[in-house]
This record gives sequence, structure tokens and C-alpha cells, in this order.
Amino acid sequence: MMNPPPSTLTEAPPTISRQGAPALPRLLAGIQAHGAMTLDEHLALHGPLPLGSRGRRRHTSEHAAILLEEIERSGLLGRGGAAFPTAIKMRAVAAGRGRAIVVANGAEGEPASLKDRTLLEMLPHLVIDGGIMAAEAVGADELIVCACESAGASVESMERAIEERSRSASAAQSPKLHLTTVPGHYVAGQESALVNYLGGGEAKPTFTPPMPFEQGLARRPTLINNVETLAHIALIARHGAPWFRQLGTPTQPGSTLVTLSGPVAHPGVYEIEHGASLSSLIDAGGGTTARIRAALLGGYAGAWIGGERLRGVALSKEHLAPHGASLGAGVVLLLSEDACPVAETARVGRWLAGQSTHQCGPCVHGLDALASAIEEVAGGTAQPRASERIERLASLTTRRGACAHPDGAVKLLLSALETFESEFSDHARHGPCDACSRPSELPLPARPIAEEASRRTLLR
Ligand code: SF4
Repeated sequence: MMNPPPSTLTEAPPTISRQGAPALPRLLAGIQAHGAMTLDEHLALHGPLPLGSRGRRRHTSEHAAILLEEIERSGLLGRGGAAFPTAIKMRAVAAGRGRAIVVANGAEGEPASLKDRTLLEMLPHLVIDGGIMAAEAVGADELIVCACESAGASVESMERAIEERSRSASAAQSPKLHLTTVPGHYVAGQESALVNYLGGGEAKPTFTPPMPFEQGLARRPTLINNVETLAHIALIARHGAPWFRQLGTPTQPGSTLVTLSGPVAHPGVYEIEHGASLSSLIDAGGGTTARIRAALLGGYAGAWIGGERLRGVALSKEHLAPHGASLGAGVVLLLSEDACPVAETARVGRWLAGQSTHQCGPCVHGLDALASAIEEVAGGTAQPRASERIERLASLTTRRGACAHPDGAVKLLLSALETFESEFSDHARHGPCDACSRPSELPLPARPIAEEASRRTLLR
């Protein structure tokens, strides 16, 4: 992946608080315009991690049980996209046979997301703290931080942070800490792909079971958490579950990082409360710079919400579910009225087909055929009843791969077909429109998110 690292802040991040709510930022507190937070700065801001039951930073079953219970009570859901309950995953690893390993997943293959590389680059000690707490909770003696190989600034920053840790007094009591870079493919951060890659294979998903929590790296129980999930654990361990639940909704507690991009004045990574309105996020981003046709929620495995349906949208699973959408890994991507959604979909569809790892027939051939069918519509060369053909291809492609990539891609393409129905039928009848030749608005590795992307904070 070739997204650039976010640029520096040029002004203080705005914090908009609803009445009586505790203030944000939480994760992004203390983020600086230039450079990563050092260990000293991190400790001055957040204080030390809570000590284990024997007053030392080492695993004891009593402290592990307390930590697990706190994470369970917090209701923390994974921030990598699937929103799986973190405590359930941790308990499964803790119950596994053999010494566990923790993997901090910052591979971030989604072209529309910058949040993980922002955390690794700017707040590496928050991620490491979360990894240490997770290791303590599941009884792991090793923590492997994974960063995308194209995110050079994140890698350098994490290297410096690990070096700082090695000189700190608590180093001897912490799990063994490594940093690994991961290829920038879309599916390289998928759990089984990471396990395969870290074990010396290719960064390609494998058929499961066994699941990584049962038999992962070196056949040991392996906890793979997104780096944002770990950053939340670092704060939950310090402040407790009730503090965490002061923000968000009952079923989706806490704050979350969102990458806002498209025609807004200040695209970038924002921290919001779950349930914040889409309009408040856009306002915090300085407002739109063009008329908006639709918003893509959840990235390239997500769904579009278009036109009038955008009014009153709130960023929580309860509000987004009726639209068939979710925040996924925290992506909100706006598309302007100036762009052609058919040409944009054709470009993204072809890119998604190219991200197949060529292991499963329905994924390889199905996504390629779908991309071709959409390109034919965009080019005005499609046969009659093209949409029926696309739907048939979609049904032949889903739920038949070793990973969820084809399912996510099909979801996005069908959502585009539905949301932009009239534009698709215009193209099928009359061929390309004037906007087809405009530069693409949707980011792809060859055309990353706006370089001015910055980090901001928002509370509804
Ligand atoms: S479904 Fe596609 S991306 Fe996933 S493992 Fe199979 S070929 Fe690779």
C-alpha cells in the first residue's frame, strides 16, 4: 500500500463536547504536530500502567483475571473491521494450550484508512502499552507489532519506541517485543495471512480451522488485535470499564478513530464517540468543499449511503445497520456530485479483483468477471440485462473463499449498483458521461488519500 503518512497538524485539534459528556480526545490526547510522543511524554500524560497483583509487571493469574474482566465489562469491540468482542477473543487465547503470543495488527491494507499508521507513527507507546496489557491478560511472553511496509514513518517511529522501552526500568518484566513489516496487500492483515507470513510463509489467508486463537504462530495460541483495539486496552487498564463506557452507545461503547476523506476541507483521522452524527464529523472536518453525492462507510468492504438517506445518519451500528452499512475499520469517504460513481466503481472493482491472492477459484474468476461486467457498463458496451448478470456473478462469488475478501468486494459493488442505479442504467444505455474521464476521487494505492490529511478530534 502506498498511502502517505498523515501530514502534520497545523492548528490545535477542535474538541466539540455534547453537554455533560466527558471530553475527547482519549486516544489522540497529546498528539503532536511533529513527531511521535516519547516514552517520557507518554508517561507524563497517561501515567504508568497498573501493576500486577504482586506489584510487578509480570503475569499472575489473578491480575490476568482482573484485566480480562475489566475488558469484558468495558464492552470493547475490535477496531479492525469485524467489531468482534475483544474479551471473548482474549478468553479463547487464554484458555489455549501452550504459551500465548500477542500480535498487534497495524497492517492496514484498506486504502481509505490512515488510523493505524497514525497510531503507530504518533502514539507508539499507547499501542505497546495495550500489547503489554493484552499479553498479561492472556499469559503471553511475546508481543509482535506489525506495520505496513510502505508506512516508513510508522516503522521508524515504532523502532525508536521499542528502543526507548529497552532502556526503561520495566523492560525486564515486559513481554519480548518485536517489530515486523507486512506487505501492503489488501488482505495481508487478515488474521490467517498474518500468521502465515509471520511463520515464514506468504502473506496470504489460509483456510481455517485451526483458528489463530487455538493454533496460530508456532502452533501457539495467538491473539491478534488491531493496534487501535490495543490502544483502547491501554486506557481501559488505567481508567477502568465505567470510564470507557461514559462515551458511545450501550452496544458500542467508547470512542473510535475514523478516517474522513473526500471533498472536505480537512481530511484526516478523527476521534469520535460511537453514535456521533455524520454531519458533526463533517463539520469537524471543516465542512464539505463540493456537493456530496454519497458517503461510503466502512471502506472497500463497506456500503454506500446516498442522497437524501444521508440526512440524520449517526455513526453507530444501530443507526447504520438499516442502511446495510457499518463503520468497519473506521472509514467515512465522501463522493462529490462532480465524480462519476460508475467510473469510480469500475476502477475500485478492478483493483479489488487484483487483490485476490489467487488461491480460491470463485474469488479469482468471480471478482475478475464482476470487474469486467462493471467496466462494460461504464464503457457503454454491456449486453442487455447487465445488472441481472452482475447479480448472478455476485451470488456465485460470495461465501466461497478462504477469507472474506470476495464477500466484502461483492457487498461494495452491489451497494454501488443499488445506490447509483440511475447512473448505472444511463451508462448502460448511453455510454460514458463527461465525468468519467475526471481524475478518480476514491483513493487507491496509486492515488492515495489527500496528503493534507491531519489528525483531529470530535465529540458529538
Ligand atoms: S478468498 Fe480470495 S483473497 Fe481470500 S484467500 Fe481466497 S483467493 Fe485469497
